[in-house]
Amino acid sequence: MPTRYDVTKEELTELLSGEPRYRIDQVWHGLYGDLSEVHSVTTLPRALRARLDEQLPLALQEVTKRLADDGETTKWVFRLADGANVETVLMAYDDRVTACLSSQAGCAMGCTFCATGQAGFTRNLTAGEIVEQFIVAARAALPRRLSNVVFMGMGEPLANFDRLWTAIHRLHDDLGLSARRLTVSTVGIIPGIKKLTAADLPVNLAVSLHAANDATRTSLVPMNARYPLADLFSACEEYVETTGRRLSVEWALIDGVNDTEQAARELAAFVRPLRAHVNLIPLNPTPGYLVRGSSAQAVRDFAADLIELGVNATVRRTRGVDIDAACGQLAAEAVRATLRTSSGTI
Ligand code: SAH
Ligand code: SF4
Repeated sequence: MPTRYDVTKEELTELLSGEPRYRIDQVWHGLYGDLSEVHSVTTLPRALRARLDEQLPLALQEVTKRLADDGETTKWVFRLADGANVETVLMAYDDRVTACLSSQAGCAMGCTFCATGQAGFTRNLTAGEIVEQFIVAARAALPRRLSNVVFMGMGEPLANFDRLWTAIHRLHDDLGLSARRLTVSTVGIIPGIKKLTAADLPVNLAVSLHAANDATRTSLVPMNARYPLADLFSACEEYVETTGRRLSVEWALIDGVNDTEQAARELAAFVRPLRAHVNLIPLNPTPGYLVRGSSAQAVRDFAADLIELGVNATVRRTRGVDIDAACGQLAAEAVRATLRTSSGTI
């Protein structure tokens, strides 16, 4: 049985056979137009609501919900039907409200500095499991409108492309988000970048670079051995030339590793021909990586070096560090408890 937000209109039509045809649109509008719980779609007869509640089960069960940054940041841990956990973060800003969604339970890419990578891979999320994270966050954002989505939660979105794309279509077609408010962040999966280049919605692409020489990058991002920088550069170049969109590059500053003048020069050489925008963020602490994030001064110096080298760079403010909701800190609680007992750290 598909979950509530996995069900397609065709499947819903089948489920509602015997009901008047207009019921299909009423249900669809209740789910996506009004963000309603099925039992409160009052245009539907009570018995039908009860049947749908049972036959279209929800996928996410809230385990925890925590607030930070004076209530401007919310992090949820959800349990899925098979017991896997995922996390979702909602961030309210003056000019927008952004949800950071997970695309997989865990991640197989093994980036050394990332809590999700340290915890390993559980499974791909279904499109409905991705969309349901948005629905929960959008309800919590009310009366403000959840306007932006970044796929910077748990998992590598381009390693789960088809389901991701189904979810993106649902966000765009049924939930009314414009493609330029959707951002897919990747560790650099080249076949996925090529698919995005040819895809039918102009979503934004962010590449998590973190190092612009192969030796350093492979030590931080093991996938770099499979998709090295020269190939990644070509895929990015093709993306920018074909789509005309601006690429962004993520760079988590790590003390003494990628915050040097040399690193700034390498980064500038990579991004300048792509006219990419660089987002700098001091590395957030995770249990399995003992190197520290760069100091505030080192972050400022690195940003100044880049700007002098003609690179468009901004320093991103981190959110939710104290509730482990910041970039790279997501690793559902249950997993972290295991890490804690097995390593004795934290
Ligand atoms: N797998 C995708 C998207 C999820 S990770 C990707 O890697 O791009 C989202 C972002 O958080 C990436 O830019 C990632 O490099 C960054 N990140 C991971 N661990 C981090 C940490 N400890 N501190 C700061 N950023 C981190
Ligand atoms: Fe996976 Fe992204 Fe974390 Fe790397 S940084 S392990 S790709 S979630």
